[in-house]
Amino acid sequence: MMLTSARAGSLKDPEIAELFYKDDPEKLFVDLREIGHGSFGAVYFARDMRSSEVVAIKKMSYSGKQSNEKWQDIIKEVKFLQNLRHPNTIEYKGCYLREHTAWLVMEYCLGSASDLLEVHRKPLQEVEIAVITHGALQGLAYLHSHNMIHRDVKAGNVLLTEPGQVKLADFGSASIVAPANSFVGTPYWMAPEVILAMDEGQYDGKVDVWSLGITCIELAERKPPLFNMNAMSALYHIAQNESPILQSNHWSDYFRNFVDSCLQKIPQDRPTSDVLLKHVFVQRDRPQTVIMDLIQRTKDAVRELDNLQYRKMKKILFQETRNGPTAETQEEDEDLDGCVGRTGTINSVESSHSVPSMSISASSQSSSVNSLADPSDDNSEIAMMQEGDHTVTSNSSVIHLLPSNDDLYDDPYPGESEPQLPTSSSTSAAAQRRAHYRNREHFATIRTASLVTRQIQEHEQDSALRDQMSGYKRMRRQHQKQLMALENKLKAEMDEHQLRLDKELESQRNNFAAECEKVCKKQQGLLEKE
Ligand code: ADP
Ligand code: MG
Repeated sequence: MMLTSARAGSLKDPEIAELFYKDDPEKLFVDLREIGHGSFGAVYFARDMRSSEVVAIKKMSYSGKQSNEKWQDIIKEVKFLQNLRHPNTIEYKGCYLREHTAWLVMEYCLGSASDLLEVHRKPLQEVEIAVITHGALQGLAYLHSHNMIHRDVKAGNVLLTEPGQVKLADFGSASIVAPANSFVGTPYWMAPEVILAMDEGQYDGKVDVWSLGITCIELAERKPPLFNMNAMSALYHIAQNESPILQSNHWSDYFRNFVDSCLQKIPQDRPTSDVLLKHVFVQRDRPQTVIMDLIQRTKDAVRELDNLQYRKMKKILFQETRNGPTAETQEEDEDLDGCVGRTGTINSVESSHSVPSMSISASSQSSSVNSLADPSDDNSEIAMMQEGDHTVTSNSSVIHLLPSNDDLYDDPYPGESEPQLPTSSSTSAAAQRRAHYRNREHFATIRTASLVTRQIQEHEQDSALRDQMSGYKRMRRQHQKQLMALENKLKAEMDEHQLRLDKELESQRNNFAAECEKVCKKQQGLLEKE
């Protein structure tokens, strides 16, 4: 369904042109700080100069490889966002273009439901899950009533605002038409009918209801079911096996029943979002302040964790100044990583942030350029970083042993320019990072600095899985094509046979008629003779 006509960045079509403001976003938005990193690039905190309003900006590049596809992805997401008007969907504020990058401006949120799990490292309480689920469900019911499907519902795409609202976000995978049939979403959260959907297979908003059920389990158990499996096996498992259920039995029957309803394998047995809104689990009375309290608790924990990290960095800096970067420093850093709560027993790449959704087809390559570069930096530095050593692992322990350019990988706020850029000494880089931690005081968030950093690093690893996924998608397409070709061939053969039969019948009929005529004539002759 790709619009092949539109070249990347082309505004010839007035319908496309009117999707974008003409102003230069660099002049309108200041104080940019990276707060998240996804498949397309980075998301920033920023301030609108005109109103001083705080916003979030998702920068999506459409240069480099597959630029036309990336451009189409941007247009699709912008068109989708433009139509949204509901308290439980993210508020869109417009899109700007600059240097082959689209700046999608949205209302600023503190972080996602997945960040809550990340910070507290334990499941949420049932009442908290109920409020978050209720908010997401209202957003979904709104989408579904307008024939839209989100297709990537998961805790990472459910955001929370300062006043405690719940917002569906990330419409990069959404479909404007229900029913739809493409293979889109994030593996572990995918409904069976999406996995099984072939060309003729169609699905609707109920796929979001399934993903919401999986999200409930995610919030209750920290990870979606099958998360220890690789994504391909999980897909197979979801399609073939029985639906997952809540593991622990300390949850209420309402909650269990809600999850069970969402996770009905046959879509016809699964309630619609509209019907689910009446479920006791989301309708039950609960204190008004549930989310506000949760947010406050999370903010406090984030501040605590960041301070801890900051103190550790100061220590490293001190030691480096005395001894220079040594193996000891590496130990310190590992220690530091442990301090943010990562116990040894937890698998180090387990963060759900690292699972890419498969909807974003094109925009995976050059996005790291986008995110690591200070908007005001020149390109020479970007090039250096790209050539840099990409072996930096997600547990940031090796950073100190790498040359200074790579230190930028560990920089929680690459969007901020410091007076001095890192020189050849890693000590000054550490000093720079320390300064960044101090700067965090400026805005409200429920994401730790180390999480933001890790996400940037994990983005590199995402690409591998994404490749695997696109391979799988290609295979499915091929399979579908073969099936269709076979079907067509059989149909053609059948038509041919039919034609031959018709012809034969026709000639038989003619023969018969001729024979009849002969007989008739003969009889007539006989009669006449008599
Ligand atoms: P992706 O398609 O890569 O998942 P998202 O739109 O979900 O992209 O954005 C990636 C991350 O950026 C989110 O998980 C969230 O942490 C952060 N983010 C996105 N939009 C906002 C926003 N409006 N306010 C605050 N953070 C946001
Ligand atoms: Mg997302």
